[in-house]
Formats: sequence, C-alpha cells, structure tokens
Amino acid sequence: MRWLAATLGALVSLVLSCAGGEGAAPRTAPRAFTEPPVTQPVDAPTPRSPLVLVTIDGVRWQDVFAEGDVVARGAWPETDAWLRDEGAAVGAPGRGEIRASGPHFVSLPGYAEILTGRAGQCADNDCKRVEHATLLEEVRDAGGKAALVSSWDRLGRIATRASKHNDVIVSAGRHGDPGVSPFPGEGDFRPDRHTAEVGLELLERERPDLLFLGLGEPDEYAHHGDRAGYARSLRYADAVLGRLRRALSRMGPRGADTTVLVVADHGRSAGFNDHGGHAPESARVWLLAFGARVTARGRVASPRPRSLSDVAPTARELLGLTRTRSADGLTELFGADGAPR
Ligand SMILES: [Zn+2]
Repeated sequence: MRWLAATLGALVSLVLSCAGGEGAAPRTAPRAFTEPPVTQPVDAPTPRSPLVLVTIDGVRWQDVFAEGDVVARGAWPETDAWLRDEGAAVGAPGRGEIRASGPHFVSLPGYAEILTGRAGQCADNDCKRVEHATLLEEVRDAGGKAALVSSWDRLGRIATRASKHNDVIVSAGRHGDPGVSPFPGEGDFRPDRHTAEVGLELLERERPDLLFLGLGEPDEYAHHGDRAGYARSLRYADAVLGRLRRALSRMGPRGADTTVLVVADHGRSAGFNDHGGHAPESARVWLLAFGARVTARGRVASPRPRSLSDVAPTARELLGLTRTRSADGLTELFGADGAPR
C-alpha cells in the first residue's frame, strides 16, 4: 500500500481536508494506464488516474463564491452540490489566495502557466509557442491519451511545444466553420455550447487520461460589458460541470477514479470589463477540485499563497507523471494529510 500512501501524500494535497475535511482515503483504488508491477519501491511513480482539467476564462473569484454584485448566490447549483458531496474550493475569501503569476494577467500566459507549471512561458496573447513541455504532451509521451477541446482557437497553439500536436487530440475554435457564429467571441472563437458538446462526447468515447476543456464565453461577455451575458455564461458553465459529473458517473470505475480540476486563467479588474497588468487585482483566481481523491470539502484554507504554477504539479501527481516542483519549491496544492499547504 506504499503507493497509496504516496498518492495520498501528494495528491490529495490539493484538495483536501482542511478545515472540516473528512480526510478519508480514496474510495476506489487508483487506476493505472497499464497493469502495475506486483511490488513497487517506495519512490516508484504513483499510479495514474484520469484527470479532467476545466478552465473557464476570466471568471472572477467573487462570482464563484457569490461575493460580487454580478452573480447571485445559488447561481452554481450543480457545482455547489458537487462541492458538498466530493469537492473542495481554493481561493475563497479569507481562505488564502491563488493567483496568476503574470505580470500580464491575460489569457494565453495564464493557460501556458497552467499547462506547463511555469510562469513566463508566454508574454501575451500573441505568443506562438511555449518553451517547456505541457501536461498534454507529457501524458502522450508517457503512453497515455491526451486531448484539448477549447472555445478559444489560440489555446491550440500551446497544446504542445510543436506546431503539429502529434497524437495529442486538439479541437480549438471553430476552424472557420461558416455554420458556427463566433459570437460572443470573434475570429475562430467557438461558442461554449459547441465546445462542451465536443468535449463531453470525446470524454466518453475516447476516454482520455487527460482532457483539457476550455470554456471561454464569460470573458467575452465581460469584455463587451454585458453583465447579464456573463452571468448567463456562468450558469451554462455550471450546467456543463453537472453534465460532466453525470458523464463520469456513467463511466464506471474509471469515472469514479477521475479527478476534475476547474480553474480560471486570470480574474478581472475592479471595473469588471477588462483585466491585465494594469489591474493587479485581476491576478487573483480560484480553483475547484472534485473526485474520490479529493477528501476535503467545501472552502479549504491555504496556509500560504498559491499560483497557477501549482496546478501542473498537482496534475502530474494525479496522472502519475514525473514529479516537478513549482517556483516556490512546493509540489502539489495539498499535503499527505489532505490539508492544503
Ligand atoms: Zn482569459
């Protein structure tokens, strides 16, 4: 059971038990990509389990925790229920902050930080590549199946370090489909309802070890100054998370062993419409974690500041990839005891 202890130590790290958390062991055994050896040394890589990483572009922490003036309490019914049953939230008011590292609090740098675990991979939304390996290519290179499905076409640029994403499934944007209007985005943006259909269908059909599902409408509506559209797109994102939960419940032991992390790439300025380096408050984000490996419940307290760079180490632990340390020398967001660290 050493691997189990190691897995708990690491993984659970993020989510857990914190204040009021239950600290219970996973209800199901971690699922390996391949049959694990009969015995494993203490330092053997931990078994792999599937991960779904959902991003919701530019959603404020205030609106996730119903502390703002745009989204009312109860606007996330599916998410709130999931949190009560098997989830934890990082970055709630008074519980410690998680932030994008910046210094430019815009989308592609935020996504690059999430995907690589490193800040400074991307200076702005025009960057073409990332220098370091992404979680998607790490999964592929370890023999697993990885997929990125996003509303924003530019996210496809940084799915891997290469221009061709060999053997990583990438569906980013509408690909010029004249039958799909990009509104509320522009160019090759694909509305979230289309992105969600593709992503959820792919999850059940392809059963990737890592699925990155990038929703993008909240940020688009916010840039338009359309608060009602923003709130509506958040309710839609909540419905997508509910469908994701039900899809996983249909997937048997694999679904039961899947962890879901939900995070934003940046927050918003005090004025709401925009975000960026001129508005340091737009650095603050939030993170939700769901699944049997998440033993904490509700709003957990982080004893020290966390960043988007901490997401990838947590994901690597779950996925059984080579461990890494984030910039602050920490690895995962949660410790062996299940408490945030
Ligand atoms: Zn963004």
